[in-house]
Amino acid sequence: MSKAPNIRTKLPGPNAAAIIARDRARVSPSYTRDYPFVMAKGEGAVVEDVDGNVFLDCAAGIAVTGTGHSHPDVVKAIVEQVHKYLHMSGTDFYYEPQVRLAEEMAALVPIGTRDGEVRSFFSNSGTEAIEAALKLARYATKRVNIIAFLGSFHGRTLGSLAATSSKYVQRKGFGPMMPGVYHAPYANCYRCPVGATPDTCAAECLSYLEDQILVHLVSPDEVAGILVEPIQGEGGYVVPPAQFLQRLRELTSQHGMMLIADEVQSGMGRTGRMFACDHFDVTADIVTVAKGIASGLPLGVTSSRAAVMTWPPGAHASTFGGNPVSCVAALETIRVLKDGLVRNAEVVGEYLMSRLRALMDKHPIIGDVRGKGLMIGVELVRDRVTKERATTERERLVQEMFTRGVLILGAGRNAVRFAPPLVLTKDQADTAVTIFDESLSAVTGRS
Ligand code: PLP
Repeated sequence: MSKAPNIRTKLPGPNAAAIIARDRARVSPSYTRDYPFVMAKGEGAVVEDVDGNVFLDCAAGIAVTGTGHSHPDVVKAIVEQVHKYLHMSGTDFYYEPQVRLAEEMAALVPIGTRDGEVRSFFSNSGTEAIEAALKLARYATKRVNIIAFLGSFHGRTLGSLAATSSKYVQRKGFGPMMPGVYHAPYANCYRCPVGATPDTCAAECLSYLEDQILVHLVSPDEVAGILVEPIQGEGGYVVPPAQFLQRLRELTSQHGMMLIADEVQSGMGRTGRMFACDHFDVTADIVTVAKGIASGLPLGVTSSRAAVMTWPPGAHASTFGGNPVSCVAALETIRVLKDGLVRNAEVVGEYLMSRLRALMDKHPIIGDVRGKGLMIGVELVRDRVTKERATTERERLVQEMFTRGVLILGAGRNAVRFAPPLVLTKDQADTAVTIFDESLSAVTGRS
C-alpha cells in the first residue's frame, strides 16, 4: 500500500458513493457516519478506500485495531485456528484457547487480590462485558443499585444504557431505563460539572457523590457497585486526577461495593500502560475489556476476583462469547502488545501530545489537549476564557481532516480524539499534526 495520505479522487469517489447509496437504502440509519470512508484494505496505521484513496488512520475502528490493521502475526494465528475449528461454545464445552486467555487475563488485569486469584467471563462486545459486570456486582453483593458518572459511555443494551450518560440521543425513546442507577459528576477538571476550580474539582465531585447522592438518594449499603471509566472515552477523553479514582477505591472498599473499572476503550495498551488503572495505582474488583483485545475480532471480557465470581452453572453465559478464533487473536494481540507496542504507545503518544500542545499558541481554538499514551483528546472552544464549545467547528474540522487524508473521530460535544493504532510511528504522528494544523487553519481562517 502506498504511503498515506494520498487522495486521488473527489471524496467520496465513485465506488464509495455507490456503496453508500446501497447502504442508505438497506442499513439501519442509527449509525453515525461523519464522513464517507468506505474501507477496502488496511495495513498498520494506513487504510485504503474502495477508490484507491489512502488515509492515515487516527481512529483505529474506534480504538480497536491496536496492533494495526491486519497485523501479520495476529492474522497467522487466526488462520491457523480457522483451519482447526471455528466454534464450539464455551458455555457447554471446553477449548484450550479460552482457558489460556483466562490465564493471561488473570496475570494482566488491574484487579486487587490477596491471593492472586482472578476469573474471567467471555462475551462478544463491550456492552456485553458491562452487562456481565452489572449482573455479577448485583449477584455478588445481593444489592441492586449502581453508581455511574455523567458523561460516561458503557454501551447500548438496556443494562449498560442505563449507566451510559454521554448523549441523550443514545437514551431518547428507549426508556424507561433499568432502575437503580444514579449518576454522579465525573472529575473533568477542564470543565468541572459542579463548577469547582481545577484544583478542587476532584474533591467537589466526590463530595457530591458522598454528601448528596449517598446521603439523600441511596444508602451505601444498598449500592452493588461504582462503575467508572478510568479515563472517560466517548465523553471527551477526560483524564481525572488520580485522587478521584483512589477515593472511589476507598469508598467502595469501605461500604462493601464493587469497584467496576470499564477499560473497554482505555485498556489493552492504548494509554501507554496495559490498563489505564495502572496510571493511577488503582485496582478494581471487576474489570471490563473489549475493543482492543482481539485486534478487531469481537470479544468482551469481564474479569473479577475469583471470590467475587462465584455464580453457579447456568447463571450467565453466551453462545458465541469467547469464540475460539477471537481468543487466539487476543492471545497473539497480547503477545504483540507486550513485545513493544504498549511502549510505542507511551513514547509516540507523548510525542504526539507535545506536538499538539505546541499548536495551542497558533490556534486559540484549542482549549485543552489531554490524554495518556495514544488516547489523546483535543477540546475546541470559541473563547479560552468562557470555554464556549466550538461544536460546529469540531464537525468541520473532522471533515477537513478527512478531505486531507486523515481519519479522526469526535468525542464529547466539542473534542476530537486521536486514537490511532498503537503501531503509529513518529513520522506518522508528524503527518497527523501537520494535517491537523492545516485543517484548523481552514476551519478558523487563521494561518
Ligand atoms: N465501554 C466503553 C468505555 C466504551 O467506549 C464502549 C464503546 O465505545 C463500550 C463500553 C461499549 O462497547 P461496544 O460498542 O463494543 O458494545
